[in-house]
Amino acid sequence: MLKGKSAVVTGSTSGIGLAIAETLANEGVNIMLNGLGDAAKIEEQRAGLEKRFGIKAAYHPANMTKPTEIAEMVKATVDTMGSIDILVNNAGIQHVSPVEEFPIEKWDAIIAINLSASFHAIRAAVPYMKKQGWGRILQVASVHALVASPYKAAYVSAKHGIAGLTKVVALEVAQHGITCNALCPGYVWTPLVAGQVADTARVRNMTEEQVKKDVLLAAQPTKQFTTVEQVGGVALFLCSDAAANITGTLQSIDGGWTAQ
Ligand code: NAD
Repeated sequence: MLKGKSAVVTGSTSGIGLAIAETLANEGVNIMLNGLGDAAKIEEQRAGLEKRFGIKAAYHPANMTKPTEIAEMVKATVDTMGSIDILVNNAGIQHVSPVEEFPIEKWDAIIAINLSASFHAIRAAVPYMKKQGWGRILQVASVHALVASPYKAAYVSAKHGIAGLTKVVALEVAQHGITCNALCPGYVWTPLVAGQVADTARVRNMTEEQVKKDVLLAAQPTKQFTTVEQVGGVALFLCSDAAANITGTLQSIDGGWTAQ
């Protein structure tokens, strides 16, 4: 059903974004990769997608702090692939600090990358989606779009902002065949989180299993990390025909975290 469509996935050089790109590519979707990283490694990922899935894959280096570069990336997708059908706003960063010490430049960067970048990408993509009468906008938000944790002022503010943006856009495009939904994962098993487990185990003199269950997954009742493939699966469902009337939702993928 998605074969031949084109998707931009921001921040797809690693983690959740890369898994969503692979999941969509597996369905025959052409992919515009984006994100930071080593040029040779990114080229390997791009060529690998084309080879493994027989689709067209390109890379755009837009920095998510730069509105003009974001708009250029959307235009480049249409120019090289013929359309932009799916927009996945995934790029994100984190900083943890008490609010009174929170570095101003970290606040600005997190709001720019985790919130404003989504607005700029949606603003640029919606005219194309309206014209073709079909579109899927996915925001990779977080459980922190729904609830807060201490020391994450900028991240929680940005993700709550994404929740509002998701609903506004959903209402505006509701009669144009376009849906806009947010994915709200709790802890997802990524290389970043794996490193955090090993470090915390060392510092606190605990086993890695203890750190996973009692520290990281303290708020996640299943005591299981979500996998990047599971996030990819939810993204794919929201792109499907079955989900055509699901819009403006905040889809939690959090092992029961927000049920408490
Ligand atoms: P990650 O660090 O593996 O990937 C982040 C991606 O964003 C990378 O490709 C990176 O290059 C890109 N990026 C960062 N700054 C950028 C910039 N200025 N311009 C362009 N690209 C930039 O992280 P991840 O865990 O895969 O996170 C992806 C998204 O999922 C984020 O929005 C994050 O908030 C969200 N999320 C992650 C978890 C988790 O447990 N890992 C949980 C909930 C939500």
